[in-house]
Amino acid sequence: MNTITVLGTGVLGSQIAFQTAFHGFEVVAYDVDQPALDRAAERFRGLAARYVADGVDGASEGAETAIGRIRLTSDLADAVAAADLVIEAVPENLELKQGIYRSMNEVATESTIFATNSSTLLPSDLAASTGRADRFLALHFANEIWSHNTAEVMGTPETDPAVYAQVVDFARRIGMVPIEIKKEKAGYLLNSLLVPFLQAGAELLVDGIADPAAIDATWRIGTGAPKGPFEIYDIVGLTTAYNISRMGGEKQQRFAEILKKQYIDEGKLGVATGEGFYTYPRES
Ligand code: NAD
Repeated sequence: MNTITVLGTGVLGSQIAFQTAFHGFEVVAYDVDQPALDRAAERFRGLAARYVADGVDGASEGAETAIGRIRLTSDLADAVAAADLVIEAVPENLELKQGIYRSMNEVATESTIFATNSSTLLPSDLAASTGRADRFLALHFANEIWSHNTAEVMGTPETDPAVYAQVVDFARRIGMVPIEIKKEKAGYLLNSLLVPFLQAGAELLVDGIADPAAIDATWRIGTGAPKGPFEIYDIVGLTTAYNISRMGGEKQQRFAEILKKQYIDEGKLGVATGEGFYTYPRES
């Protein structure tokens, strides 16, 4: 694999494109129009600075050079023409993604591999629209991929094992730890573990069993993990936590009410706004 195309240059797409270029690949980044591409260029400059600030190995020499390896375009045929692998990171909407795979199948060469970064759709939901189910799978990154560097690789029963192996190898070559998932699973591995854990913390709170600081301290001290559930809620952001909890069962909905009244309505959205369950920067 030499030429990689990333579709969508938002939060995750820009990170995937930049990380791939940082590791020496030629990258084409596609988005819908010029204003979106201008925002992408801005994101790449921000990521270059962030890699340096976070002390990513080789960033002081390599971060600016990486930007030069990314070509921006809003022409889909041009974007995918020479791609060995296309990584799709467009908004989380089934019809939109299916539409883009259909259009892309018409303009990409037969050998091009397609991968989705979707967090909540299964690759099986999209396989038929790709027109190449044997060359399609999920390659799922975590936000801030330069430090949270897992890449969950999840095929469908139709994915060719040789294609799967090539994508695992690619993930490793861009500095990821490839996580091989053997069967399709909503939530992949990370959210299959994290979501029940966060929900258990929320239920201890809504039942009045203990307050967030006590719950977090128990988890940290008892297991050696760096963060408890409410510290993680603050990182995820309380608006996202609210949107997920309000769709859940009775206790999760009570948690959503607490989030809304005591935090979100007060402008406390977590780490991003400097206050959530805790105040940031944290006093140690
Ligand atoms: P985002 O809204 O930040 O970015 C989406 C980008 O897609 C925007 O730049 C938008 O202009 C562009 N876009 C819109 N319509 C398009 C089209 N028809 N063709 C091409 N580009 C189009 O979204 P995001 O948070 O980066 O999420 C993108 C995907 O990545 C989703 O599938 C999401 O589930 C997944 N994901 C997100 C995260 C996260 O933390 N944000 C983590 C892992 C996976």
